[in-house]
Amino acid sequence: CGIVGYVGDKQAQGVVIEGLRRLEYRGYDSAGIALIEAGTVHSDKRAGKLANLEKAIGERPLPESTTGIGHTRWATHGAPNDQNAHPHLGRRDRVALVHNGIIENYATLRAELEAEGHEMRSETDTEIAAHLLERELDAGGDLTTAMQAVCRRLEGAFTLVAVDAQDPDRVVAARRNSPLVVGLGQGENFLGSDVAAFIEHTRDALELGQDQVVTITREGVTVTGFDGSPAEGKPYHVDWDLSA
Ligand code: GLU
Repeated sequence: CGIVGYVGDKQAQGVVIEGLRRLEYRGYDSAGIALIEAGTVHSDKRAGKLANLEKAIGERPLPESTTGIGHTRWATHGAPNDQNAHPHLGRRDRVALVHNGIIENYATLRAELEAEGHEMRSETDTEIAAHLLERELDAGGDLTTAMQAVCRRLEGAFTLVAVDAQDPDRVVAARRNSPLVVGLGQGENFLGSDVAAFIEHTRDALELGQDQVVTITREGVTVTGFDGSPAEGKPYHVDWDLSA
């Protein structure tokens, strides 16, 4: 339901949790976060309010990290419990991924993965995308080309945001029939399902078009189509008031 992504020089945990709080108005049943630190994905996710997630992190702190993603879930496939909350990880915990929307052909893809020995840890339509992404990465290429390849296989509505433990300074996202905006900072960049996710940090935004993949690093933002061809988002300035 709500998505946040961050790479920069600040502590990602604070930026992501604050972003999720700004997205709470959309409603949700679970919340989760993944941070990359020292070649490892560190993740926590909880059913219930954001406060449940914050309490869990307080009891078992995540490492400091400047790259992270977060999610508030409105369940469509699978009960609203801890297991089904996002992020979802690939089979070797190399990739963490969050998703808004519905992947219509997930059952076919799940059967394909299970036939290869992949074991799913949730009932969601989302988890297959994390497995597919990690499988692509293991076959070569980087998170950006892997995301393009996975999106070419997905049907339905999705905003996806992912991180790779082995590529700590990059966050990659994609969209089809579901919104995605980039927040442009200096030495930092943001992703959100809407601008509320990063409005306290920057008002310079880039709206992604249909069937586009975006890669953010500290220094830059690159947009392509699902086929890898160069593309452009639509830049705009957010001028509404934040006081609400
Ligand atoms: N379909 C996914 C799920 O049920 C994502 C739902 C959402 O947009 O929050 O987990």
